Amino acid sequence: MLIFRQPTTDNRQPTTSMEEFIKSLSKRAKDKHIENKKFFVKLKNKPPKHLDQTMVKLHREEFQKTDCLECGNCCKTTSPIFTDKDVDRIAKHLKMKSQHFESQYLNVDGDGDFVLKEAPCAFLAADNYCMIYDVRPKACQEYPHTNRKKFYQISDLTLANIEICPAAYNIVEKMKVVMPLAHQTNKRQ
Ligand code: SF4
Ligand code: SF4
Repeated sequence: MLIFRQPTTDNRQPTTSMEEFIKSLSKRAKDKHIENKKFFVKLKNKPPKHLDQTMVKLHREEFQKTDCLECGNCCKTTSPIFTDKDVDRIAKHLKMKSQHFESQYLNVDGDGDFVLKEAPCAFLAADNYCMIYDVRPKACQEYPHTNRKKFYQISDLTLANIEICPAAYNIVEKMKVVMPLAHQTNKRQ
């Protein structure tokens, strides 16, 4: 689900600090859940000026520090949604028929969407590279969606993503610092 999973020439493995962060992420996110939920309600009720630009900046700054190749947690634990276009593009890349690709790799979930049959993703290599990077699903390209326009519209998704994605967790923490009015007002509620 990676947006910054760029091929490099070295074989980076998770650093100890990244591994520890990922292990603690679920608990950290749960501990912050109520605070974050209130923050997002406030954000939606009164989005700050220039929210879109601020999110692009926070997203860019975070991914200058966080290396997806040291993490890979989204690809290891969750599935992107595969659109029909994704299926056709990836199947073509793999020189497979779309139907064959679907039956080999995908299930239909409760919402009727194509998702991976299993986690970790079958296209995640041992060194955290995406083996179909150039043709990966749109959802992978956009994950964790923290530079999305009108970011407050995906608060439920973000609350789930911060349990999985260290970068998304850090970005939400930074949001509360740079958008203090929304955060402080919520603290008093
Ligand atoms: S296709 Fe699989 S390995 Fe590639 S980015 Fe998406 S989830 Fe990760
Ligand atoms: S969970 Fe977040 S930081 Fe980790 S690989 Fe995925 S997008 Fe990158």
